[in-house]
Amino acid sequence: MSDKPLAFDTLQIHAGASPDPATGARQVPIYQSTAFVFKDADHAARLFNLQEVGYIYSRLTNPTVAALAERITHLEGGAGGICCSSGHAAQIMALFPLMMPGCNVVASTKLYGGTYTQLTQTIKRFGWSAKLVDFDDLDAVKAAIDDDTRAVFCESIANPGGYITDLEAIAKIADGAGIPLIVDNTSASPYLCNPISLGATLVVHSTTKYLTGNGTVTGGAVIDSGKFDWSQNDKFPSLSQPEPAYHGLNFHEVLGPMAFTFHSIAVGLRDLGMTMNPQGAHYTLMGIETLSLRMTRHVENAVKVAKWLEGDDRIESVTYAGLESSPYFDRVARVCPKGAGSLFTFAIKGGYENCVKLINAVELFSHVANLGDARSLIIHSASTTHRQLTDEQRAAAGALDNVVRVSIGIEDADDIIADLDQALTKALA
Ligand SMILES: *Cc1c(COP(=O)(O)O)cnc(C)c1O
Repeated sequence: MSDKPLAFDTLQIHAGASPDPATGARQVPIYQSTAFVFKDADHAARLFNLQEVGYIYSRLTNPTVAALAERITHLEGGAGGICCSSGHAAQIMALFPLMMPGCNVVASTKLYGGTYTQLTQTIKRFGWSAKLVDFDDLDAVKAAIDDDTRAVFCESIANPGGYITDLEAIAKIADGAGIPLIVDNTSASPYLCNPISLGATLVVHSTTKYLTGNGTVTGGAVIDSGKFDWSQNDKFPSLSQPEPAYHGLNFHEVLGPMAFTFHSIAVGLRDLGMTMNPQGAHYTLMGIETLSLRMTRHVENAVKVAKWLEGDDRIESVTYAGLESSPYFDRVARVCPKGAGSLFTFAIKGGYENCVKLINAVELFSHVANLGDARSLIIHSASTTHRQLTDEQRAAAGALDNVVRVSIGIEDADDIIADLDQALTKALA
């Protein structure tokens, strides 16, 4: 083959998946094995010393899971990556090598509801904290970064509203402060948005969503660009100084651009154990094979549905960034040039009560707390995913009482619109 890099549509099928060396199996086998036999005592020692890369125990690495990690790493244009048990696990795994008690992460106010709670509440138990600011206010982002900040965190297309983050501008701020930008690329998928090319250091995914694409398994991934200089300051001792949790290994010195990835396996997965299982990796590998085809259809359908909603007088507003009326429309071409995804919200006349009626009246849409499925999904964020938030926090996150969130599937667009039409008629009767 030529030296020309393979295109996305080719990589989504082939990256990480050569024929099985033992059997010739063309599809990646599900290596349902906890442990892997060492060739001899020396081989075992070399593996444990990271002098040789190989399989030891599936809490650390597994061939099926590794194939998936490699595939997502290629699609994101990273140097290395790991898979974990869920998107939320991936977020903790991304922060873990960077943070110490007393450290903070500066994060966007526009986040998936569960991430909001994870960052504002749960991580406090580790002695970490988060400062949430409006990422459209670049001065506020800059001002929030202090000596204890170890990362900046945001979503490319933010859940639930379909806001687009100006990743290049945010990456510059993080870079200027000598800290990494972590981007949750779940709602965009690597097909629509490539955060690393816009300056992100780490990309996290809930592979549960578009990457798997069929609502079968939860999973997550952390992809490292390999470009961040962990030794440029003294903020990241786990990576740039002898790591006491791994017999004093200096990961950055020894492993260079793979420092973060190896630390995540050798210390993170080893001790936190938030590992993806091979069966789960299999479903996600299957899903990714059709990612570009699905995302193209998701976007086409989302544009059609959002336009129809915008023109309907039962609707107060639609947040889809792919609409010219969106304040984020201009960012689509720069941040997610192949489209603004298929996740957005709309506000209906009549408030909370009518939203509940609408949810109860849909037939084709599924009322679930998920997104990125082939099926069209709907949820009333205020009474579900964003329920634990205060009114003020809900407003900042774009999850007001009269707002429903949809994840537009890949069914026929006219059928999707017809279902919303009949449900709106019932809701507003
Ligand atoms: C679903 C989701 C998560 C959490 O992922 P899980 O796989 O459910 O743990 C994080 N971020 C975003 C944007 C999500 O949509």
